[in-house]
Amino acid sequence: MVEDCAFCVEVEEGLSFDPVLNSLGAPRLPRILGENAEFIVLPSLGPLVDDHLLIVTKKHVPNFRSAGAALRSNLLSATGQLAEKMVLRSGRTALVFENGSQLYRLGCVDHLHFHVLTLPAIIADRVLKRFSTDDLLSTAEMVAAPIRMDCDYVVLKIGIAQEWAMMTRPEIDRQLVRRLIAEEQGSPAGWNWRDAPNLDAVRLMVGELGPVVESAGFRRTTT
Ligand SMILES: [Zn+2]
Repeated sequence: MVEDCAFCVEVEEGLSFDPVLNSLGAPRLPRILGENAEFIVLPSLGPLVDDHLLIVTKKHVPNFRSAGAALRSNLLSATGQLAEKMVLRSGRTALVFENGSQLYRLGCVDHLHFHVLTLPAIIADRVLKRFSTDDLLSTAEMVAAPIRMDCDYVVLKIGIAQEWAMMTRPEIDRQLVRRLIAEEQGSPAGWNWRDAPNLDAVRLMVGELGPVVESAGFRRTTT
């Protein structure tokens, strides 16, 4: 556990933790919807849609690039199962991403987590078109391939069966994928979850998404 890491504190205490939001008076919420040996699943504090979940490692690992092959493989597999069940529930298109390792981290938690959400197909398509990729990677390549250490990177997958798209650049806008989704939804300022947290939406997801998380193979967390 890293003591000043928001997700490490949440894994330990079972309540959301963000130094900025909490200092502004936001309550700490119980939001962990499920867990397995390696991961917890919880709703984003600044959801872009009504089913915006995060899958977070229990162990502190800074990002996907820093993870070993076994953890990468298990994360991709657990993420795939979750995305599949969320698509069954919503009838929309799955979108999975990690905003990568970036130089300018304000607003981002430096502890490995993948965003998993579903979008209307037309919006998902527009997001993909705006995401310029250097590479398309198979899941096997995502597990085995080293990610360039001298660059920022972002990974993205749209649709269950698609390949992963990887973008590497010397410097990438922080929270790039959140920005693209917010813009394509017509609310460009909504990308910044610290400026636009939506705790009512978080409470709704806590109330509604437990069964879908359980159906993806996670057990209900008792805290
Ligand atoms: Zn941590």
